[in-house]
Amino acid sequence: MYTRCLVCATPFDENEQLEYAPHGKRLAFDPSRGRLWAICGTCRRWSLMPIEERWEALDELEKLAIDKARLLSQTDNISLLKAGPLEIVRVGRAERTEEAWWRYGRELASRRENWNKLGVAGTIAAGAVVAGGWAAGGISMFGVWLIMGHGSETLRDGARWLRFGSSAWRGNERCSSCGYRFRAIAYRDRASIGLFPTEEHGRLELVARCPKCGQYREAGLHLRGDEADRTLRRVLAYHHFAGASERRVFKASRLIQEAGSPQDLARIVVRDGKRLGDLQRTGGIALEIAANEATEQRLLEAELAELEAHWKREEELASIIDGELTPLPVLEQMRRLVTGGSG
Ligand SMILES: [Zn+2]
Ligand SMILES: [Zn+2]
Repeated sequence: MYTRCLVCATPFDENEQLEYAPHGKRLAFDPSRGRLWAICGTCRRWSLMPIEERWEALDELEKLAIDKARLLSQTDNISLLKAGPLEIVRVGRAERTEEAWWRYGRELASRRENWNKLGVAGTIAAGAVVAGGWAAGGISMFGVWLIMGHGSETLRDGARWLRFGSSAWRGNERCSSCGYRFRAIAYRDRASIGLFPTEEHGRLELVARCPKCGQYREAGLHLRGDEADRTLRRVLAYHHFAGASERRVFKASRLIQEAGSPQDLARIVVRDGKRLGDLQRTGGIALEIAANEATEQRLLEAELAELEAHWKREEELASIIDGELTPLPVLEQMRRLVTGGSG
């Protein structure tokens, strides 16, 4: 196997998952045509591995792709999979597809675990203050306050603040009706944020009421496009900082499945428009999963389009190198020229 990129000579990073193809953190393979490439992280070109060294590696890759890899995205021609740190481009559609939204669902479920741990930590902190207080011959005001049940919540609020800060959006926008200047949307005002469908499939508009003139639909603050996506994802992650139980994630995932796609889900949940505070719990969780999924899909689709273009070009080269396209390989033609056409 080549240890360096054939185009720019950058050494491939080693991977530990593949015994027969240890060079490269991003590999591409075509199980039906028997091709194997390592993709260069520097110039992004594909290096076709020597034909006689491919077969074990191809078996190994296909096994990894089926058993351990997660499907990130796919087109009709290629799929992008991830197995640990290894990224795999597989030519052909993936047979087995993990429902994509489970990925983010798992993140919500693990948030719930952390949330519970923070609660336990708060109780232990309160206990420590009590013990320490007795030892020192008195309990501080802080100790009393912790014992009165503030421990867990304070730790949780602190952890949330550390992670998110206080504003979901910062900027400089004017109310079109009264000229009031919007500088930020605070998380604590999230319940009143309006979510409205837009003509752009699956994307929502975020609306905040103007605190000066009270306008909402006609004026106030309106966020759209990427800015709205980012703010929405942030607000929902804050809103669901406690995570969700697996049962809830399961129900939310089923909602997305029934909707047909993350984009359709957004439209179903907000209908003609809804305040964030009025979302049903499962609908809200589903919306967070869908919002993140839709964003990731948009990024992946751009990446996949580029990979597919690379694949088309590299496959053309590979079929020449492997001697399939030219009915008479160049060497054979030359031999005939040299020998005067005999043989
Ligand atoms: Zn290179
Ligand atoms: Zn206004």
